[in-house]
Amino acid sequence: MQEEGVLGSGSSRGMIIPIDKVQTDDGTRGTDFIRQIADEDQSAGKHGGIIHTRFPPEPNGYLHIGHAKSMCLNFGLAVERGGQCNLRMDDTNPTTEDVEYVQAIKDDVAWLGFEWSGRVFHASDYFEQLYSFALQLIKAGKAYVCDLQGAEVSEYRGLWNRTGRDSPHRNRPVDENLDLFARMRAGEFEDGSRTLRAKIDMGSPNMNMRDPTIYRIRRVPHYRTGDSWCIYPMYDFTHPLSDALEGITHSLCTLEFENHRPLYDWFLHNIDVPNQPRQIEFARLNLSYTVLSKRKLLDLVEQRHVTGWDDPRMPTLVGFRRRGYTPKAIREFCHRIGVAKSNSIVSVAQLEDAVRQDLNPSTLRVMGVLRPLKVTIENYPEDKVETVDAVNNPEDEGMGTRAVPFSRELYVERTDFEEDPPRKYHRLAPGREVRLRYGYFITCREVVKDQSTGEVVELRCTYDPETRGGYAPDGRKVRGTIHWVSAGHAVQAEVRLYDHLFAQVDPSDVGEEGSYLDNLNPGSLETLTGCWVEPSLEGASVGSRFQFERLGYFCVDPDSCQGGLVVNRTVTLRDTWAKIEKAKAAK
Ligand code: ATP
Ligand code: MG
Repeated sequence: MQEEGVLGSGSSRGMIIPIDKVQTDDGTRGTDFIRQIADEDQSAGKHGGIIHTRFPPEPNGYLHIGHAKSMCLNFGLAVERGGQCNLRMDDTNPTTEDVEYVQAIKDDVAWLGFEWSGRVFHASDYFEQLYSFALQLIKAGKAYVCDLQGAEVSEYRGLWNRTGRDSPHRNRPVDENLDLFARMRAGEFEDGSRTLRAKIDMGSPNMNMRDPTIYRIRRVPHYRTGDSWCIYPMYDFTHPLSDALEGITHSLCTLEFENHRPLYDWFLHNIDVPNQPRQIEFARLNLSYTVLSKRKLLDLVEQRHVTGWDDPRMPTLVGFRRRGYTPKAIREFCHRIGVAKSNSIVSVAQLEDAVRQDLNPSTLRVMGVLRPLKVTIENYPEDKVETVDAVNNPEDEGMGTRAVPFSRELYVERTDFEEDPPRKYHRLAPGREVRLRYGYFITCREVVKDQSTGEVVELRCTYDPETRGGYAPDGRKVRGTIHWVSAGHAVQAEVRLYDHLFAQVDPSDVGEEGSYLDNLNPGSLETLTGCWVEPSLEGASVGSRFQFERLGYFCVDPDSCQGGLVVNRTVTLRDTWAKIEKAKAAK
């Protein structure tokens, strides 16, 4: 797998921000450039001193961590400054939108901890109003019906270094435009045969200003308006006007829209609107080893590279939720990365770190053995069972202890035994003594192997009854402490371990021929069956979280409902990647 570090100069997405350079929770909350603008506007009494933002997802997919950044900014800014934030479905493209996504978006916004003001808004609610705005432009001689078709439109539009040419229909009389536009709406013309265009400037260096399309004909039923419309307004037209209609003061969007801003403002200046919102652009979130484009995420789902939008490897909020991430950790991550004006790739280790930090103080510790190796304690009575006290959370004494059964037959982790241990290996090996966490010292006396395969199948050990609780009265020390479960009491589980879904820091950084799919990490999911976990997990409810000592943070997967416990690893205990990076850097 590729090492994380500074990206090659060929990447268009800039540098990875080193972890220690990212803004941390040191009281700097609220000092980014957008918050500064909001403060200035508020103190200048602009918009009556009100802050009114909106979060405008298109319901064509599930929300991802990039949307979380946008939500934390939009809702956060409004909450901090006593303002409001609207949730608006930006639903003007009927071909890709679906009511399934609308519900999922609402669930995700609420899950992340945000409340929208009033009802949920829909750009499609404004179709009639937008139509009359278009009429206003036509009547003012600022929009015309154009009969050029796809390829011709592009040809006339020119290139960034070659100015465009006027459409032959640019100077149509107002009455003819009004008539044609009404007939477009009435369904008299074929899809794609005509468009309504704003009459701006075909010589503008900004391509967006070269008479952009504002309406197209598309006979596709809309998930809300059904067959009422066969013409649909374009995003660039809809967005500023929706903002104006809702009284939005600050319309925050990602950098790609920077050179759409003149067009945003043009519509607001040339149409009689109740309010003049201001568009401000910020850098979108890019995350290492991750793709955050809804189209690509949809590909992954449709081509079954993942099990669904909520696959725990997906960067969607439903995926993270299933994986065991908390809303608080995601909000904290968004706070730490801040809001800036230049694109970068944030290390996914940052996100994982925020998850660990949130889970550590609150999560129960339990024991589970993922790759079991049987241990028989020969000098422990056959039918004896005792319980040992295990600490629920060493970070928080108030969380108390629990009783864990101990008996003659145990399972330990296969990786905690080495027949031929390397130097500095402190766990089990022939003749070696180790501590069983919360239990006794045991010594490995004999290694039992499968005759035909040579595989180690059992360890015969003895225990020292004087070492109950993990300490020897004679003061003798052991170097290793391992976890275990009692074979006769443990509960069986399936455990799913996750790695990055992609093996490249920037999966989309592929040559002309390549596809981001070539960068999928074949080892992103490891499913372990036949794991054994301590009996306190019997019947654990879906979504409950705990730490398996030494193994990471885990949570119960919804698949558990089908009988049997299924557990996801949320995140490892430490950032193994950071360790690898450090080791490399030290060389
Ligand atoms: P995608 O490229 O994933 O399709 P989009 O911009 O088309 O994203 P929308 O549903 O329109 O998706 O996004 C809703 C809001 O979330 C927009 O304001 C958009 O700017 C913001 N947003 C989307 N992706 C990111 C991201 N990676 N980082 C920050 N904000 C984002
Ligand atoms: Mg969008």
